[in-house]
Amino acid sequence: ERSDGGEEKVSGAEVIAQALKTQDVEYVFGIVGIPVTEIAVAAQKLGIRYVGMRNEQAACYAASAVGYLTGRPGVCLVVSGPGLIHALGGMANANVNCWPLIVIGGSSERRQETMGAFQEFPQVEACRLYCKFSARPSSIETIPSIIEKAVRSSIYGRPGPCYVDIPADFVNFQVNVNSIKYVECCLPPPVSMAETSAVYMAASVLRNAKRPLLIIGKGAAYSRAEEAIRKLVGQCKLPFLPTPMGKGVVPDNHPNCVSAARSRALQFADVIVLFGARLNWILHFGLPPRYQPDVKFIQIDICAEELGNNVKPAVSLLGDINAVTKQLLEQFDKTPWQYPPESSWWQTLREKMESNEAASKELASQKSLPMNYYTVFYQVQEQLPRDCFVVSEGANTMDIGRTVIQNYLPRHRLDAGTFGTMGVGLGFAIAAAIVARDRNPGKRVICVEGDSAFGFSGMEVETICRYNLPIVLLVVNNNGIYQGFDADSWKEMLKFGDATEVAPPVCLLPNSHYEQVMTAFGGKGYFVQTPEELQKSLRESLADTTKPSLINIMIEPQATRKAQDFHWLTRSNM
Ligand code: ADP
Ligand code: MG
Repeated sequence: ERSDGGEEKVSGAEVIAQALKTQDVEYVFGIVGIPVTEIAVAAQKLGIRYVGMRNEQAACYAASAVGYLTGRPGVCLVVSGPGLIHALGGMANANVNCWPLIVIGGSSERRQETMGAFQEFPQVEACRLYCKFSARPSSIETIPSIIEKAVRSSIYGRPGPCYVDIPADFVNFQVNVNSIKYVECCLPPPVSMAETSAVYMAASVLRNAKRPLLIIGKGAAYSRAEEAIRKLVGQCKLPFLPTPMGKGVVPDNHPNCVSAARSRALQFADVIVLFGARLNWILHFGLPPRYQPDVKFIQIDICAEELGNNVKPAVSLLGDINAVTKQLLEQFDKTPWQYPPESSWWQTLREKMESNEAASKELASQKSLPMNYYTVFYQVQEQLPRDCFVVSEGANTMDIGRTVIQNYLPRHRLDAGTFGTMGVGLGFAIAAAIVARDRNPGKRVICVEGDSAFGFSGMEVETICRYNLPIVLLVVNNNGIYQGFDADSWKEMLKFGDATEVAPPVCLLPNSHYEQVMTAFGGKGYFVQTPEELQKSLRESLADTTKPSLINIMIEPQATRKAQDFHWLTRSNM
């Protein structure tokens, strides 16, 4: 009770902020405007970090990356109508990646609904396709329980996005403090374990394997199974292959990592254990000719509906990867077993790894200018700190970069992911840098972008500079999507007509000075054309922990063609 006798009031915005705080939400990314500005202000007052971005899509990518990195959902806060629609791309990406996320959308006033209100849109219905739970609280009093349900749903079972709709008339409406009951923070996700008989069977199938392979996916990274999986790999001496974001669960430089013989490993393995990796396009659906027709899959997943997709598994292990891997380890503790290191399988894999590595080193050593992808990535790999986050997107930039740039720690690679989304890079890098600043000060974020990929969310460079996040952005610039023209060819082409008539759709403006986007906001910019310039600018950028930088790296505009000679490194054969 207040001293003047009236009851103390609280606004809808304050209730939302307190409900988020109670559920341990630490980060909100978004763009404010009518009607959500007050929510961001209230959240900040409670010590929740608010990161204002330049497009809701990038904000949503950032919030979803926080969920993957920390295991607690980040929030994406957006305005009604177009704001929410821009965020749908981020929700879809999080949904396909199985990452937790909460989207909070302001919506038009309830009493104007169906009247053509400002930015009116059926938001709860629109979000349903992209998430696990989509709802509008029926009153301010029900906000805490809806937010608890959204947070809980986002992390229980297979993680994913949830949507909470907040009508404009809730935001500033005042209710009596005592009418609000905050729901306690939801418990961490319950840990589920596989059936004992299935674990026993899995161990026995593995023991009898002639050509075993472990595939480590981002589900393993998300479940924080690194210690258990590293132990299993070491103890049983098994070859393993990380998926793009499974990189680092076991370090890429581990002697049992067979990434450099990926196609061969998939093609000839007779038993494959899937640690949180779906048999989708990334793994060629688990089908011939990329696999043996009778390959036995041992599938570990937290989502029962995933088990058996595309291929009938020999053994299904339904449960949390960390817990299930420990169950497997128990079997191998009881009856120790090692896959023989002198097997012909290892020999086949090693031979292929050596020849593949030699071929890319050969390309990297080429002295011709403009540089090719391999020259660039070998230079970068040499200088990167081991514990840095690597964010990457672009077609060849991401695919070739992944084969050269190493990850040593789990959840330290973020890329276009299962949905193949371009435009995620800057949002992911911002999220990683903010999380790193709070939890591992000094840890760096390297964002390796193709020039086309950079364009989707390029204005987030302003966000990076505003929060002074010392991200090192590399734009690997070939003047186009897949490939482009050099400046002379571009000029020559324009003699034959207007660019809309004659320019190949893949072309972007040659020699664009993307580094000036960074200098425009006070960061450091470099335009580099030689390996020496690249080395120097990268050394300077990494030495400066106080400022972001962008290194615009000019490469051979037709560089993709060279790479395609090496069919094992092209996109169709990832
Ligand atoms: P990748 O892209 O690395 O191949 P996917 O995204 O295809 O990985 O697969 C990740 C899988 O991990 C999903 O099927 C998801 O249900 C599963 N998953 C997520 N978290 C867990 C967990 N804690 N335990 C087991 N499986 C999980
Ligand atoms: Mg390009």
